[in-house]
Amino acid sequence: MKKSIIFIVILTSIVFALFAVYQINPIRCNNCGRCSNVCDEDAIYYDTNLHKYQIDPELCEDCGDCADECPRNAISQVPVSNELGDITPVTLDVYVFPNPTATKAVFKLISEDKSNSRELVIYNIKGQKVKTLNFNEGTDAVGWDLTDHSGNKVPSGNYLYKYSSSDREISKLLTVIK
Ligand code: SF4
Ligand code: SF4
Repeated sequence: MKKSIIFIVILTSIVFALFAVYQINPIRCNNCGRCSNVCDEDAIYYDTNLHKYQIDPELCEDCGDCADECPRNAISQVPVSNELGDITPVTLDVYVFPNPTATKAVFKLISEDKSNSRELVIYNIKGQKVKTLNFNEGTDAVGWDLTDHSGNKVPSGNYLYKYSSSDREISKLLTVIK
């Protein structure tokens, strides 16, 4: 009995570590900047449009130093949850940070497929294709600078991002604010 409990605790920890990202709680954060100073990966930046510090999941190496440094306990690992809100591992899903965004967005993919033919398509609310992003082989994150195919910044609004695999398709919303 005890062994099974220990096994479940270890398994839960592993699952949490694999499917969690560091995030800043904007309500607790008072923009002191201490977390940004200790991040060796330069993963924490001040978003001048949102007036908030943000963590770039593409650069974050999950060391936890920022969480230790924060005097307001504003940084924690947040499970990358599926739509039902649990932390059950999923074989395919895609998330975007931050959302809403004013400057850039990073799409993080959870998938066993690491090939170089994976793409994510962004549509505006009229259903027009705005941008196609490609995941490089072996990576699970791709950034978007909020520009369209012509290099122009997209206007404020809701955008649909869609990732397709051979057996499943996922569409979610991202809000751009200026
Ligand atoms: S150290 Fe904490 S309170 Fe200060 S900017 Fe970072 S998250 Fe916000
Ligand atoms: S967990 Fe480490 S790498 Fe990630 S933002 Fe915090 S200090 Fe930087």
